[in-house]
Amino acid sequence: MSIAGNILQLKNSLPDNVTLVAVSKFHPEAAIQEAYQAGQRIFGENRVQELTAKEPNLPKDIEWHFIGPLQTNKVKAIAPFIHTIQSIDSLKLLQEVNKQAARNERIIRVLLEIYIAEEESKHGFSSEECLTLFKEPIEDIYPNIHICGLMGMGTNTDQTEKVRKEFHGLRHLFDTVKNLPGASPLHFHTLSMGMTQDYRIAIEEGSTMIRIGTMLFGKREY
Ligand SMILES: *Cc1c(COP(=O)(O)O)cnc(C)c1O
Repeated sequence: MSIAGNILQLKNSLPDNVTLVAVSKFHPEAAIQEAYQAGQRIFGENRVQELTAKEPNLPKDIEWHFIGPLQTNKVKAIAPFIHTIQSIDSLKLLQEVNKQAARNERIIRVLLEIYIAEEESKHGFSSEECLTLFKEPIEDIYPNIHICGLMGMGTNTDQTEKVRKEFHGLRHLFDTVKNLPGASPLHFHTLSMGMTQDYRIAIEEGSTMIRIGTMLFGKREY
């Protein structure tokens, strides 16, 4: 099927409260245009260089989500236009995003990445670190960011029960954080979990945002 067909079919199958981020990394601008024509407006990229190359050539009403590891010295390059950074994995990065957002006189939305998978290359905060962070109203300290929720990636495995447990744990953390003084009742509403191979489980476990690449655009050519 075509990219447009894939988008429409997936969107029709999603519950109303689940937002689709089309992960366009490693795919050409033409593929993004095709998804855009089908009505998709939210796209995810994971490399600064690739994103800053594509962004000027694509429609201005695209909401770009950054979903990959982000070095603090690269924040500057995406700060003028990035809608949401989903991969905040340290306080240092959070501070830098706030600083660059202020310089651009804008608000940048962020999700805190929580590591839930068993993998070696762990990115993100632990549950404990996350709970500690939200004891204080963080948005008072960082006025140019809105902390909109949490993001996590399940273990890359076909043991579905393992992945389900990870997602279940992240949903529980999300619900707990929601009620802490640090979470803004106005902004904190997004739980980003689920990719092509595990998004159905993620939705069953309470995801409100899925990040889908392969299922929409086909295999990536690295
Ligand atoms: C690449 C990527 C995705 C999309 O993965 P697919 O398996 O192609 O759907 C989702 N989230 C993150 C963080 C990614 O890096």
